[in-house]
Amino acid sequence: MSARLIIVGPPGAGKGTQAGRIASTFSIPAISTGDIFRKNVAEGTPLGQRAKALMDAGEYVPDDLTNELVRDRLAESDAEHGFLLDGYPRTVAQVEYLDGLLAEQGDALDVVVQLVADQDALVDRLLQRAQEQGRADDTEETIRRRQQVYQEQTAPIVAVYQERGLVVDVDALGGVDEVGDRIADALTARGLPAAV
Ligand code: AMP
Repeated sequence: MSARLIIVGPPGAGKGTQAGRIASTFSIPAISTGDIFRKNVAEGTPLGQRAKALMDAGEYVPDDLTNELVRDRLAESDAEHGFLLDGYPRTVAQVEYLDGLLAEQGDALDVVVQLVADQDALVDRLLQRAQEQGRADDTEETIRRRQQVYQEQTAPIVAVYQERGLVVDVDALGGVDEVGDRIADALTARGLPAAV
């Protein structure tokens, strides 16, 4: 069966980890714009060169660049029967762009999973991850700026999807399995047979 999903939540809520689990359950690709940008930065592509300074500062990459990247990725054959977007859309303009893309294909989103957690707990989590993984874009200043940008720019997009009745809230604090089970239950309740 197909599943067109979005996972959203503040930085540090565990989106990437949970995205991988959900994607394997539904046999759909987990598409993380952050990962794609990081890969481009690492490879020194023209896109990576444009994105690097913005990412290092905790700012967003411009919508036109991001939208184009997602258009290309969703056109790949593995996304034909579904996808899980992680880190996109992040602005209202990106929501509108995605609406247009899906409408062109006659597709619709099934569910938006919102991971919910206390901000201070998330900042602690991110600082720990930065140490463990040596992520250059994760300084304390950048982490705080990212939380702020998230609240300003991305929290409003959740309201748009809430109005459409697509959002399920999941408590993001807890072990990976515990949170994964909550997501599976929430998706099952929405008629998507997850078996995480
Ligand atoms: P993430 O790993 O999802 O937290 O993304 C890391 C960084 O990549 C963000 O702080 C942004 O600079 C950039 N980025 C990722 N996704 C987007 C997006 N949808 N729109 C704009 N910038 C993005």
